[in-house]
Amino acid sequence: MSASVAPNSSESRTAQDVVVLESLTVQPDRVEARVRIDDPRYQFTTPELIADAVEEFPTLPHHTCRNAKGPTFGAVMDHTPLAHLVEHLVIDLQTHEYAAQHPEDSTAHQVVFTGTTQQSVEDPHVSIVRVSFRDDLIALAAFKKALHFINRTLAQPSAPEA
Ligand SMILES: [Zn+2]
Repeated sequence: MSASVAPNSSESRTAQDVVVLESLTVQPDRVEARVRIDDPRYQFTTPELIADAVEEFPTLPHHTCRNAKGPTFGAVMDHTPLAHLVEHLVIDLQTHEYAAQHPEDSTAHQVVFTGTTQQSVEDPHVSIVRVSFRDDLIALAAFKKALHFINRTLAQPSAPEA
C-alpha cells in the first residue's frame, strides 16, 4: 500500500456533503483520489448541474475525453458518473491554476492534464479518480475546490424561474 493523506480529516465537513474525498495519494506521475458518493440520487450528473458547472468552468465541454459518444467531455457530460465530473473539474482547475501560478513558464498554458475515473472494485460507492499533475499542492487544491463546487451546487435549491 502507498501512503495516503486524508485531506478532510482536519476540517469540519457537513453531513450533507454528497461527494466526499476519502483519500488522496500522490504518486510520481498521478494523483489518485478515492471519491465516495453514497446517495443513489447523485451517482450521475444532471443537465441542471452541468449548466451550473459550465457557467463557472466554460472550457469544460471542450476537454478531450475518452467516452463512448464523442471526442470531448461535452458529448457525455449531461449524464455521466458524478466522479467523472470531479475528474474534469480537477483537470480544468489545474490547467488554469498552473498557468496562473507559473507566469515564468511561457508554455504553462499548453500543459495538458489527463485523467481517468473508475469505479472501485471493492466498493461501488467509491470511484478512483486519477489525474496527472505538475504541482501536488495545486492538484490537492483542485480536488478540494471541485468537490466544494459540486457539494455547494447540489445543496442549493433550484432557482425559481425569473
Ligand atoms: Zn472524461
